[in-house]
Amino acid sequence: MKRTGVWLALGALCGGLVLATLAPRSVVDWRAVRAIGLESDDWGLAGFVPRADSWQGLDREALKPGRFPPVYWGSTLEDAAVVERMTSVLAAHVGRDGVPAVFQPNYVMGSLGYDEADGRWQSYELPHWPPEYPRPGLWRAVVQAQARGVWHPELHAALHYDPELRQSRGLESELARAVTGRGITLFPGSEQARELSPGRSAEAMTAELAHSLAVFARVFGRPAGSIIAPDYTWSGWHERLWQERGLSVIQAKREQLNPLWLSGMPGRIQKYLDRQWAKLTQFGRTYLERNCLLEPVQSDDAAAVVDRCLEDTRRAWRRGQPAIVETHRVNFAHTDPRIVATGLEALDDYLSAACLLDGGPVFLCDTEIAQLTRRGVSWRRSGGQLVLRNATHSARVLTLSVAELATCGLVGRQPVFILLAAGQVLRLDLSELKLRGNLS
Ligand SMILES: [Zn+2]
Repeated sequence: MKRTGVWLALGALCGGLVLATLAPRSVVDWRAVRAIGLESDDWGLAGFVPRADSWQGLDREALKPGRFPPVYWGSTLEDAAVVERMTSVLAAHVGRDGVPAVFQPNYVMGSLGYDEADGRWQSYELPHWPPEYPRPGLWRAVVQAQARGVWHPELHAALHYDPELRQSRGLESELARAVTGRGITLFPGSEQARELSPGRSAEAMTAELAHSLAVFARVFGRPAGSIIAPDYTWSGWHERLWQERGLSVIQAKREQLNPLWLSGMPGRIQKYLDRQWAKLTQFGRTYLERNCLLEPVQSDDAAAVVDRCLEDTRRAWRRGQPAIVETHRVNFAHTDPRIVATGLEALDDYLSAACLLDGGPVFLCDTEIAQLTRRGVSWRRSGGQLVLRNATHSARVLTLSVAELATCGLVGRQPVFILLAAGQVLRLDLSELKLRGNLS
């Protein structure tokens, strides 16, 4: 009996060690690929404030919205100039395969505005925002950035907050009303009003996701394939829902906050084991970790942030991982133009230096990283072209299914097969693909 107990304990220990150390296998050798992914959250969010003078005469501390890094008090919806400048910076940096840097803005699909004249809340969805946020030409700039292949949107949130709490607390006091009336998206306790909190109804969250995905496909012309949850807060239930709806890439798993987990050290162990277990058993999902930080406007020394990010990039490659850079929108869209200049310059500096690192990188979006990890080959729509890759050491056939062709606006009855040589990168015009595949 005693001996059985010892064996059981030993077995559990070995199982735990295996679980703690195993990593999912990748078809490609990421040391040789030297990939950089640029993930950026909060694009499209109508907040925190519409303009530089939004807080004038209001006591924002008395509002008690919660705690944010100080720079977020001036965070604002991007404008056309921001997207145009980002496009220029990205297009000027070309990977060693000839494909320019691709940025992955993770979008918030809608917003709520309070119309004081008729005392009602109004819903807005991309590419429209409450009237406090006029952004002439913004959507044209987004479409152009997408057409140039440097802007590859993915999904972040429906609203980025719990809509019921936003509506009730946003009007609960005179101060809250004044703040809401100016189009500021903070409200009492807003930090804790998580969009995906376990207290919310499953029906509401399911409906919000379905709506967000429909809006996404309509405005960006293709389905979303990757997601980062707002405030890094989600549970296993959300992951199952996302996967059912075609969102098979989950960003920043290591940052996950799951309110259903235990607290303290047991919670940290639970989180670690949950992550390992998910990575080893959820074959239909790809979890990507943000292993490089580029948040220069939250530091007094932006140059040091860039240097650290470069060092982290190199470290990720040495470990055999793609370098996945986290860089929030607040670095590029802000009511203070000096902050915007700092953020853009840091991105420019990072990309310039990264292009000289170890022979240069290739720039990939999440879904490309996921495809290469699983199959060794990948495709991405880039404006009027497809970027096709084979990152293995042997020739491989890339298959474009009928459903995938449909997301490029091509109608066919059969999949298209394209032979790619070892290491080949092919940029194929959609018109040429149409001819090859006999598509309409
Ligand atoms: Zn966010």
